[in-house]
Amino acid sequence: MTNNRFELHEERLGTTDEYGQRVYIHPEDVSGPWRNRRTIFNWFLIGVYLVIPWIHFKGKQIILLDIPHREFTFFGMTFYAHDAPLVLLLLLGFVFAMGFITSIWGRVWCGWACPQTVFIDTIYRQIEKLVEGKARQRQKLDQSPMSFKKFGKKLLKWFLFTVVTLHITHSLLGYFVGARKLFWISLSPPTEHMTLFIIMISITVIFLLDFGWFREQFCIIACPYGRLQSVMMDEHSLVVAYDTKRGEPRRGQVESSDEGDCINCYHCVKACPTGIDIRRGTQLECIACTNCIDACDDIMAKTHKEPGLIRYDTEAGLEGKETKKLKPRSFIYLTALFIIFGILIYSITDSGKLKATFIRGSRTPYQQVQLTDGTNQVINLYRVRLDYKDKHELNIHFKIKKGGLQNKITFATPKNPLLMIGGKSKSIIMHFKFDQSDLTNGNRIIILQFLDDGNRVLLEKEVKLVGPLS
Ligand code: SF4
Ligand code: SF4
Repeated sequence: MTNNRFELHEERLGTTDEYGQRVYIHPEDVSGPWRNRRTIFNWFLIGVYLVIPWIHFKGKQIILLDIPHREFTFFGMTFYAHDAPLVLLLLLGFVFAMGFITSIWGRVWCGWACPQTVFIDTIYRQIEKLVEGKARQRQKLDQSPMSFKKFGKKLLKWFLFTVVTLHITHSLLGYFVGARKLFWISLSPPTEHMTLFIIMISITVIFLLDFGWFREQFCIIACPYGRLQSVMMDEHSLVVAYDTKRGEPRRGQVESSDEGDCINCYHCVKACPTGIDIRRGTQLECIACTNCIDACDDIMAKTHKEPGLIRYDTEAGLEGKETKKLKPRSFIYLTALFIIFGILIYSITDSGKLKATFIRGSRTPYQQVQLTDGTNQVINLYRVRLDYKDKHELNIHFKIKKGGLQNKITFATPKNPLLMIGGKSKSIIMHFKFDQSDLTNGNRIIILQFLDDGNRVLLEKEVKLVGPLS
């Protein structure tokens, strides 16, 4: 049994003690090219996240997910509830994109772009450092008994965390409510928008606990992507890895003349935010943050050895084999991705500016009325939802296309023409009246035309009529 707390039993996580209790990790600061690249990239991502809700394009927020009105705007294109299949396609595309990226670059998402890593590394840990000091000071503070000074530091840290988290939450809500609208709402009393206020408080508490306290536990225990990545990767995927051939046997295990390059200084372990020892090989807990690369390169420079004892490489590369860039797994992900985005682009360009969704009257599919001359008439009632994506106003004229059964249908709607406002949706009731005998020849489909003021056909929709069989 060793007293070195960084020399863990191979079956124990770095984030738990021998009793299974959580050990709070304070990774040591590192400096180096990878740290610099990640800091720049992370601040760029935070800037994008904060700025997007304030950018408008074609009169609308560039990304606006208006759930109550079921309107979803992306870069000037508006989608509605009936476009849900497109959203599913988009999500599927995202899954295959992640599969493709992971199969080649490993957990690059976790270390470089996951909001969890980006916010914790760039903001929360920096606040912690500012208030409580460097990693070892923070560790000492955690282990010390409660005092006025400790309480004051913890209070200040959590106060700053709360301020930052409120800002992050409001920015997130800006994507759903609209940043400008949310700004004015936030100046009014909470009681005027109680639901939104409760949602905001709930998200803030979740973020605060996650970014401020739960941290790497989320990556290790809860993140579904973390669990799945092992099936997306293979020996040709890029990982942050320790070169065993070069490093072993490490210092202290053999005579100094037989030693490898690892001096067993534990700098890589101390810098790891998930508390693992990368020298034990690729592990599920590794989020590929590159901290250990910089930590080890620093030691290599001090010991006058080549950098790269820990580096980005593939399992195949470490074994001296050739790394395949595009293997069958990546090719399958890429093909699926192209197919999905092909369908997506076709659907978006094909969906046109005007969409009509017919919803049959909810109580009975049809009604029967008897006229004074004894003939039976059938009425079909539809609620039609119209989604109009252009920015100009438009008068829509409804007309049944002539020919066959269609000549016998009486059509009525409360507004004809109907004025549509750019980017808005409207619902309208439509009645189709016809003689019961008209349906007996088997043809039940008619075509309803949507025309503009110049009699130009904008859209044609098939309407299926229903009635009694005889
Ligand atoms: S092993 Fe290295 S790359 Fe992986 S999480 Fe730890 S410090 Fe980051
Ligand atoms: S930082 Fe490098 S030299 Fe030090 S223990 Fe880790 S691998 Fe070995």
